[in-house]
Amino acid sequence: MAKGPTEQELELGPGDLVTKWPGIGYTRSQELESMGIRTFEDLLGLWPRRHEDRSVITPLGMLQDGETATIQGEIYNAHYDAGKKILRVQIMDRSAALTAIFFHATWIRRQFREGYHAVLSGKVEKRWTKITMAHPEFQVLAPGEHPYLGLVPIYPLSGSLKQNFLQRLMKDVVPRFAPQVPDPLPQALREQEGLSNRAMAIVHQHFPPDLPSREASRKRLVFDEFLRVALSVLIMHQADPNAPGMIQNPDGVLVKKFVESLPYSLTPGQIHVWKEIQKDLRSANPMARLLQGDVGSGKTVIAVLTMLAAVDAGFQAAFMAPTELLAEQQWLVLRNFLTPLGVEVAFLTGRDRGADEYRAALKEGTMAVVVGTQALIADHVEFKRLGVVVIDEQHRFGVKQRAKLSQKGEYPDMLVMTATPIPRTLALTVYGDLEVSRIVGLPPGRKPVETIHLTHRERRFAYQKVMNAVKQGDQAYVVCPLVGGDEEDTQVKAAVDLAEGMKKVPGWRVGLLHGKMPTKEKTLVMDQFRRKELDVLVATTIIEVGVDVPNATMMVIEEADRFGLAQLHQLRGRIGRGDKAATCFLIADAKTDQARERLEAMVRYQDGLKLAEEDLKLRGPGEILGMRQHGVTGFQLANPLKDLDLLQRARAAAREIIQKDPRLMSKEYHLLRHWVREALEEGIPAKVLH
Ligand code: ADP
Ligand code: MG
Repeated sequence: MAKGPTEQELELGPGDLVTKWPGIGYTRSQELESMGIRTFEDLLGLWPRRHEDRSVITPLGMLQDGETATIQGEIYNAHYDAGKKILRVQIMDRSAALTAIFFHATWIRRQFREGYHAVLSGKVEKRWTKITMAHPEFQVLAPGEHPYLGLVPIYPLSGSLKQNFLQRLMKDVVPRFAPQVPDPLPQALREQEGLSNRAMAIVHQHFPPDLPSREASRKRLVFDEFLRVALSVLIMHQADPNAPGMIQNPDGVLVKKFVESLPYSLTPGQIHVWKEIQKDLRSANPMARLLQGDVGSGKTVIAVLTMLAAVDAGFQAAFMAPTELLAEQQWLVLRNFLTPLGVEVAFLTGRDRGADEYRAALKEGTMAVVVGTQALIADHVEFKRLGVVVIDEQHRFGVKQRAKLSQKGEYPDMLVMTATPIPRTLALTVYGDLEVSRIVGLPPGRKPVETIHLTHRERRFAYQKVMNAVKQGDQAYVVCPLVGGDEEDTQVKAAVDLAEGMKKVPGWRVGLLHGKMPTKEKTLVMDQFRRKELDVLVATTIIEVGVDVPNATMMVIEEADRFGLAQLHQLRGRIGRGDKAATCFLIADAKTDQARERLEAMVRYQDGLKLAEEDLKLRGPGEILGMRQHGVTGFQLANPLKDLDLLQRARAAAREIIQKDPRLMSKEYHLLRHWVREALEEGIPAKVLH
């Protein structure tokens, strides 16, 4: 593809489809599309995962065993062994010779023409004087062609796309189309922030002349990403004079009665967030609030208060949970709270009988409160006047889902709850559209869960302790390992086996709970466990969220090193919910340093925020949020933790722009306006999707 452009190519613009490019046929265009790439402009945004430094060519005679190096030499022999499907290419320079080995590489054998030069990068293997490289990155140079050295981009691949192909494609495409992409930042802003122009930034992000240029270009592009979100959020938060928000009644009879009916008083943390929420509920502006609170901090009570404020004002309230099991559990909890107050609670999951009646009641407005799974956002679910939407364990849902539930009413107030602690700055970008409330502290009397790490050989000790606890009337969870492969199936099998084994223990009543059981059975087992008809519940990670049985004081997590830190914390949060001391055993022979550190962190810390910080150190922010790339954040290059400074600068710039031109109507901002519209369409700030 090193030929000059054809007439046809010359006329192409960044907005054209990549299929117009020679060499991009059906298969490749499909692969690209699976990565979200349709136009040349999209292609420009396929950022390299990293760069490989090929600026130094090492003479063959100086290669060391085990090093990664780039070499250049003449091809003097290329032999393809058709039987073994191995291609051996011999290359030499003035100092020595080397053999490059490619397995199953029929498709490249013709490229290695004897007498041509080649540049190879890869790992060197040296045995005496015999030097080899297995599957190196390569460029074959036609006579007169120059090698492409320096910082070479390594792209993310999909399906059958080859690194070589992408590199060559980008080498042609990037310099040609990047200059045609207009720069949305006004010059004055660019100068003020000391940022390069966008075209250059794009080129350097792919093909940096050196590392400082790459960092400079990254800064510019990260600034853009932040500015886009910041502007969208600001625009969205502008008071919309037409927004017919609803006024709830957080001071009504039901709210009062409910608080009085509780066997405990609210914790200071709960009181604080309730005050913040009350303010939103009293105002006509729609609430969009994220409620963070560690596992067991008592978010459900806050949800009930919020829903009752709607009922007191004559509206309906919906509570959405991520799994059927959790929805069931919460339904139970809510019914216990609300039935005594004379408020009935409907229940909707995908497949229940009786759902039709509930649906009718919601449509007619004869029932005010509903709990359910995602079934709540199905098209055929309608509300008479939905006033409050609560979303539990929000990290399990996408932005779109939460927007969809809101659409069932006209600007209902929305409370999304999560136990995943996110540093405030991060929350503001990730959930840019949400105000954040945090429940600080746990209900009184909670004793820290003693956490003990045991190796497999010490495992008996854990079960000894469980046995003692059961004898005293306590209950226990045993959580089964995640095994590779088809996760759920293997986990289920492990759970079944383990439960079978435990049923043989004299005096133990053992129940089994896993995701593949019919809902009815799950509920039955859960009920039995709650009523103390079972001593030990062997379960998969299905119990991770929401299960609330205060009499359970023991937990054994098998193969604990296979779980992530957040998950371990959630699991452990199932015990220590009553006033008795609780113990969590982590059974693991940790094989990696990371796994060992995770277990240590669990032993040392109780606090979710602290654990999240540790997790952050161990894994980086993308993983923590569970939204690496193309995710909800809308960031490709930005790392909201690392780039905090840029984030703040972009926010300030956004505020300044919006102050000058609240609707981005001036010509100077018309490209920014376009950006924002795109961001909103992608659903970055969810409220606009109302
Ligand atoms: P989470 O925030 O993890 O959803 P829950 O709402 O399930 O926590 O509450 C955990 C447990 O704490 C429940 O058993 C609940 O009844 C109890 N609880 C909630 N608020 C209080 C309080 N103020 N005082 C004592 N116990 C409380
Ligand atoms: Mg909860």
